Amino acid sequence: MTDTYNTADCDQCGTCCKVFGDSISPTMENIYWWLVNDRTDILRHFSACFEDSTWKQCTELRPDEIFSIVAVELRDPDTGSLVSVCPFLTRVSKKRYLCSIHMAKPEMCDNYKPWIWGETYLRRCRTIVEQEQRTPWQNDQII
Ligand code: SF4
Ligand code: SF4
Repeated sequence: MTDTYNTADCDQCGTCCKVFGDSISPTMENIYWWLVNDRTDILRHFSACFEDSTWKQCTELRPDEIFSIVAVELRDPDTGSLVSVCPFLTRVSKKRYLCSIHMAKPEMCDNYKPWIWGETYLRRCRTIVEQEQRTPWQNDQII
């Protein structure tokens, strides 16, 4: 439960985004915000399922339809097929990845912290690995 690091410590290795894979699910507030701000670049990657089991690409949603959505999935915008990796993860160098929608990313990404033991802990997070490799003396210097 300890919040050992803060988000600014992220080493941008991209591992947590790769682990999320296709399971990114925005809140209805995320979708509404993307709709009113005309973020079709984001909406086109998501499809919504309604109470009657019909699907619609999120770019075609009307704001009043949001309340009838029962599920939202990442889908290939051209084929409608399921995807295996988040389309917003962008490799910017050999070992560094960025989120191409960082300022508008889904709430679950915004809140995710891989260093919360027992909840969302991700052993492969590079920030955790590198901090654990430091000597106790080195860790004292960065507090
Ligand atoms: S939306 Fe951004 S932060 Fe969320 S998984 Fe994709 S690349 Fe990572
Ligand atoms: S796994 Fe850790 S270091 Fe890598 S992107 Fe996620 S939070 Fe940052």
